[in-house]
Amino acid sequence: MFSTAFLDLPALQGASGTVTLPGSKSISNRVLLLSALCQGTTVVHDLLDSDDTRVMLAALRQLGCGVEVQGTTVTITGLGGRAWPSESIEFFMGNAGTAMRPLTAALAVQGGDFTLKGVPRMHERPIGDLVDALRELGCAIDYLGNEGYPPLRVRQPSLQLDKPIPVRGDVSSQFLTALLMALPLAAQDRAIAIEVVGELISKPYIEITLNLLARYGIQVERQGWERFVIPAGSRYQSPGTIHVEADASSASYFIALGAIAMGDGIRIQGVGADSIQGDIRFMDAAAHMGAKITSGPNWLEIQRGAWPLKGMTLDCNHIPDAAMTLAVMALYADGPTTLRNIASWRVKETDRIAAMANESRKLGATVEEGPDWITIHPLAHGQWQRASIHTYDDHRVAMCFSLAAFNADLVQVRIEDPKCVAKTFPDYFEALFSVAHTTALHIPVICIDGPTASGKGTLASRVAAALGYHYLDSGALYRVTAHAALQAGLTLEAADEAQIADLARQLPVRFEGEQVLLNHVDVTDAIRSEQGGMNASKVSVLPAVREALVQLQHSFQRLPGLLADGRDMGTVIFPDAPLKVFLTASAAQRAERRHKQLISKGFSANIDALRADLEARDARDMSRSVAPLKPAQDALLLDNSSLTIEASVEQVMVWWQSRQVFG
Ligand code: C5P
Repeated sequence: MFSTAFLDLPALQGASGTVTLPGSKSISNRVLLLSALCQGTTVVHDLLDSDDTRVMLAALRQLGCGVEVQGTTVTITGLGGRAWPSESIEFFMGNAGTAMRPLTAALAVQGGDFTLKGVPRMHERPIGDLVDALRELGCAIDYLGNEGYPPLRVRQPSLQLDKPIPVRGDVSSQFLTALLMALPLAAQDRAIAIEVVGELISKPYIEITLNLLARYGIQVERQGWERFVIPAGSRYQSPGTIHVEADASSASYFIALGAIAMGDGIRIQGVGADSIQGDIRFMDAAAHMGAKITSGPNWLEIQRGAWPLKGMTLDCNHIPDAAMTLAVMALYADGPTTLRNIASWRVKETDRIAAMANESRKLGATVEEGPDWITIHPLAHGQWQRASIHTYDDHRVAMCFSLAAFNADLVQVRIEDPKCVAKTFPDYFEALFSVAHTTALHIPVICIDGPTASGKGTLASRVAAALGYHYLDSGALYRVTAHAALQAGLTLEAADEAQIADLARQLPVRFEGEQVLLNHVDVTDAIRSEQGGMNASKVSVLPAVREALVQLQHSFQRLPGLLADGRDMGTVIFPDAPLKVFLTASAAQRAERRHKQLISKGFSANIDALRADLEARDARDMSRSVAPLKPAQDALLLDNSSLTIEASVEQVMVWWQSRQVFG
């Protein structure tokens, strides 16, 4: 996840490949409960791993269900036909609404001695309408705290199923969902009717519930959106195997991506055209604008079709969330696009009509808006402006505007507060970068060169963290090369240059956080020693070795950007880098810092010997014939002898920001 203050998206030129989307939260928890209520075993694939699902799994285990978790596949052995627990059980539901509501209903209908609690916030989330409906039906539920709110105590019901059960539909559709899933437990010998009081909101979610019930053998008769009847003789039956669909709203960004970006197309794994989620109908709207879409079980493939896209007017009532993605596609159209019947945008995470209008205007677009509509005019070549997109703590605004980075004018787009995507898709930007591509020219590199122990590594990795960029510790590559050479029985002298270069060219090195792995073996401590540095310095004077490591170093230049530290980053490896810093500090300072660093890692060290070593390495690095250590002509000098690390980071950030002017 990108938890930086902002994320600068370089101009993106194309996209191809496969993205696997995380499972839908609403479907995951419904499927878990339904599997638990069945007889027999259900294998659930692609379950979302989230707080809500973990809470549900823990509760099911407490009830005596068999639960086996293997990655995103979970095998549930249901309670159907088995003894329901008779001992008293206390369930901790955290803040998981999608677990609390349906579980309460199922427990209350089946009966027992159960307590359901949660975090303090859960005790502020109303559940009174559901409890009222369950009491109407004869369930015994007590409030243990405030009237109308958890925690709850559930006891043995005396069910009265002869009259329809009223439930409010205008507060949360989760109450109706909870009843629909609980009542089949009581409908063995009589039909049970539920009547919705008030206008039912979030109908697509009820459709998901009805669809899943059907997969589990329960055919609910729906009469309009007012009355639902669970037929007599209903009985849960395991589907055997079930795949949790990926979230269809999340898919909309990648459907749009396939329609906008040049490339071999995008394949979305996890959701298909036959999805039970209402937002999948976004694909029809995208196709109308020009996307070429094919689909099979649980997958979609999208290619650019009409280009530019075709502007259109659409009533978006059926796809309120995904329709925001159309607003960004509209920027790439041949004429204006009007999205109608979107009044609900005004009362979501933010006023989404205003947000989409403001931010599109920053990019240069002309936008008109009304109480429940928006018209977006496309941006022609030459009209796109660099913009810093405010995201209003709204995940969808952030994901939508990331698609503006594919603009024809190759201008950058800054996304403020990128971590807001965590609400539904924590790894959204990682998924985007895994399929998006652009030429190296557009992927920024910040070089930090300087002598040994000047603090380059710390500075570079801190700046990388602040920008969400990748980090290349080029010194580690020389260290690992020397290590591998010694292991292979080579000397570190010119006599073995060709063989060391061969090793370097195919160096099986991997970085995992602070760890450096060579051939899957952790060599971090071995290469980080003073001796490791000296050895690196020896192999680094060999021209063939330097040449052999060039390609590996270039491969670190990946989206969204790179911080590279070393001796020749700015002079040789990334000569076109837009920012080069040459970091220095006095030899005394550097020796002292290295001393502290070694001691803290448990190595023994002598400060005078360290200083002598540093000076010897500097001398060798500066005097070698290839890529000697020296500032690039266009490098900015930073002497950090008397600066804290925070101040040095701040200075580099200021230099970097001054080169990134956003409208
Ligand atoms: O930066 P670090 O101390 O890990 O580098 C170890 C040695 O690798 C340096 O002393 C230098 O001789 C060599 N090196 C280099 N070019 C780089 C990075 C490191 O020659 N880009």
